[in-house]
Amino acid sequence: MLRSLLHGFQDLVYPPLCIQCRSSPLDDRPFAGLCPDCIRRIPLNNPPFCVTCGRHQDETYPPPRCRHCREQPPAFDFAWGACRFTPYVRGLLHQFKFRQRTYLRHAFVARMLDYAAHYNLDIDQFDAVVPMPLAPARQRERGYNQALLLAEPLARRFGKPLWRKVIVKSRMTAPQSSLGRKERFTNVRGAFRINPSERISGANILIIDDLLTTGATAASAAHAAKSAGAGTVAVLTLAIA
Ligand SMILES: [Zn+2]
Ligand SMILES: [Zn+2]
Repeated sequence: MLRSLLHGFQDLVYPPLCIQCRSSPLDDRPFAGLCPDCIRRIPLNNPPFCVTCGRHQDETYPPPRCRHCREQPPAFDFAWGACRFTPYVRGLLHQFKFRQRTYLRHAFVARMLDYAAHYNLDIDQFDAVVPMPLAPARQRERGYNQALLLAEPLARRFGKPLWRKVIVKSRMTAPQSSLGRKERFTNVRGAFRINPSERISGANILIIDDLLTTGATAASAAHAAKSAGAGTVAVLTLAIA
């Protein structure tokens, strides 16, 4: 929190520069951290897509489903990953999640909206936008939930209600990035529950997160939502690895 205040203060004192190329003067509001050129360098995911997890497939690979989704169908109905998880995107996400550069959300949301428009995503089918929750202890430590920072403006732009607390993280889990593929599924199994005061039964929801890698976290959250009677459960992430 203090660090984000300091960043905010620096932005008032100095004319904000692009944190990536340091040269282009930025006059955009709200401050997105990146100049328009560096925002465009966040590479949109490109087809052919696996119809289930949204991952780019090699042309030679038979669509519509990737090997992972055929071998182990995820609990969510489908996922959309807006951008490829290149080293550039990985670096930006690190700044966003661990260096308090929350203003990057404006750049990320811009790219997610570019993706939604470019591939004509059917957003109308959803009743609500739902952020992937963090464990309360993790959120206290970080000061914010990065998925909520993305979900808020997206819900506004999509014209959908934001259901902040319908899915809750019921226990702390080890960081997924520290684990192998199989361990990731075990790590998050049963880690989510549905807030009983929310009416998720019969609702079609779009879960927002920053990154989809194995899809284990999304699948676990989707499993909780489906068990509580949710209809379509889909996922939209900034990046897909
Ligand atoms: Zn730049
Ligand atoms: Zn797939």
